[in-house]
Amino acid sequence: MTGVRENRFGRVRARMQEVGVEALLLSLGADLPWLSGYDAMPLERLTMLVVPADGRATLVVPRLEAPRVEEDPAFTVRPWEEGDDPVAIVAGLVGSRRSLAVSDRTWATFVIALQGAIPGASWIPSSGVVGPLRAVKEPAEIEALAAASAGADRVAAQLLSGDIPLIGRTEREVSDDISRRLIAEGHQKVNFAIVGSGPNAASPHHHPAGRVIGRRESVVCDFGGTMGGYCSDITRTVWTGPPDEEEVEAYSLLQHAQAVGVAAARVGVRCCDVDGATREVIEAGGLGRAFIHRTGHGIGLEEHEDPYISPANREVMVPGHAFSVEPGVYFAGRFGIRIEDIVVATEHGPRVLNSVSHDLTVLDV
Ligand code: ZN
Ligand code: ZN
Ligand code: ZN
Repeated sequence: MTGVRENRFGRVRARMQEVGVEALLLSLGADLPWLSGYDAMPLERLTMLVVPADGRATLVVPRLEAPRVEEDPAFTVRPWEEGDDPVAIVAGLVGSRRSLAVSDRTWATFVIALQGAIPGASWIPSSGVVGPLRAVKEPAEIEALAAASAGADRVAAQLLSGDIPLIGRTEREVSDDISRRLIAEGHQKVNFAIVGSGPNAASPHHHPAGRVIGRRESVVCDFGGTMGGYCSDITRTVWTGPPDEEEVEAYSLLQHAQAVGVAAARVGVRCCDVDGATREVIEAGGLGRAFIHRTGHGIGLEEHEDPYISPANREVMVPGHAFSVEPGVYFAGRFGIRIEDIVVATEHGPRVLNSVSHDLTVLDV
């Protein structure tokens, strides 16, 4: 792992030069483990890796957390004792540097204290430095994403084959069932298992609760977890009995839009144009107003990260970009449908990491 890490430190420093950042301060969030291999606990005690563009990196860490830090030639470990002022320690390491980047998820408590201790500095979120680097996956990261996707696929296949009972169960019960299966299929952690049935399917991030799933409803199941540090994320929509004509038409439009979006995800194409490709199909089919979110999001150590497949993102796809393509259409109070796969941009075109069928699936379970 050391070679990979040295390489990442090198790329981070080059990028800091490029964007004019003199010191990068990493606390909570995935940037820190991506760079250092260390994952900070979300604690009121400050953990912060200080990476000067022109000097050695130092990990400032509470003494009681220090045993969890793996020795690494890429940085020095600086444990602090109860009673020490970790903000002052970080300010000391920053020295006279004033162009700073700080982890997007650093607690405001610490950001405000650091701003007081380092007056006159300019601050940007660390995603401005690390985001575009993390977005381009190394081969081992792509294989980790593929393994996680394969695990999620096995659960999706169980759903489509009717192994997961739906009718008469609550959304919560089905969500718990899917969660257990994600673990059984090799995930270490479940990140979410959305189950939205009938009118609840019209809420993209519905929180599964006590609604009992009935017959002839669309059921949106969107789930994912973490396997070997990397995330899976898949959505399949099934029906508990024959859908009506409107639902069949909407589903076939969505199938087409999703496939067009995947095919558009080629190296050299802007992310906004991949979003545009799915959106155009749905708009042409007259359901543009029902597609209420972006087409997708990057995926890696985090479920949602760069690059975002949204109308606003003009970033150009490069080999190694990994992201979801997940258009959906939602009709408030009635029904909703979504199809989601994870895709990696490669020199040879889009590589889809999920292989479970998109065919309209009607179940009697
Ligand atoms: Zn989502
Ligand atoms: Zn999802
Ligand atoms: Zn997603």
